[in-house]
Amino acid sequence: MKDTRKREFPLHYAKGKKLYNIIVHMSDAPGSMGEILEALRKRVNMIGTSSYTLSDGTAMLTAFAEALSSKETAASLKEAIGGLEAALETEVSEGRDGLLVDTFHTGILVGDDEYLLLRRQGLSGVFDHIVKLFGTGGEVLLYEEGKALGRDNAERLAKELGEETVANEAAYLGRVLAAEGWGVNESTTNAGTSELRVTVTDCFECSGKGEMRKGCDFLRGFYEGSVETARGARPKVEEVECRLRGGKHCVFRVSSQPA
Ligand SMILES: [Zn+2]
Repeated sequence: MKDTRKREFPLHYAKGKKLYNIIVHMSDAPGSMGEILEALRKRVNMIGTSSYTLSDGTAMLTAFAEALSSKETAASLKEAIGGLEAALETEVSEGRDGLLVDTFHTGILVGDDEYLLLRRQGLSGVFDHIVKLFGTGGEVLLYEEGKALGRDNAERLAKELGEETVANEAAYLGRVLAAEGWGVNESTTNAGTSELRVTVTDCFECSGKGEMRKGCDFLRGFYEGSVETARGARPKVEEVECRLRGGKHCVFRVSSQPA
């Protein structure tokens, strides 16, 4: 299957449609989700759903849905699910003239870490602005901040997964960044050397205008900090190709000597 972007629904707009945010706290009995979806099958068209298990073994099903009948209401949907054994608690709220906002969730967790969603191009624009304000000092700042975050990230991963797993699965773990929207990356090792090449297609850092910038300094620093911490080496990372310099992708060359 083709690489695709995960869809999130902090909001959805479909002018004039009857939209509902359906939140169900489900029991831990097998088949709970199927039972709830079955009850909704003829009533709504699902725009986006997500489900996740909570620490006590019960689970949440949250959905953005469009009513199939104009007679449907938040109360009637709640009633359809509320009576099921699978549903411990149910909340349904209606959008406003085709605008539906997720008023239930108050943030995003990945493992135990809190995350935030922001527009890639918005962040890339922040980087543009830093370099516009501070020139080469801004480039150094982005590189240093990237490096600090790379170290921090690698330390957290090592704590969670163990240092050996992080070192052995570095390329596989690199795909986490792709899933998180930083850009799809592929690492290749140069045969006979310890040199690593990371090709990032669709890198977030140069997804904005990037008029003032010459390269992806933040990501260069991030890889340097990550490799330094994960491998206990003193790496040197160069960005040998960048979309900001007319390249097709961003390519980082990582060479390292043992610390
Ligand atoms: Zn780049």
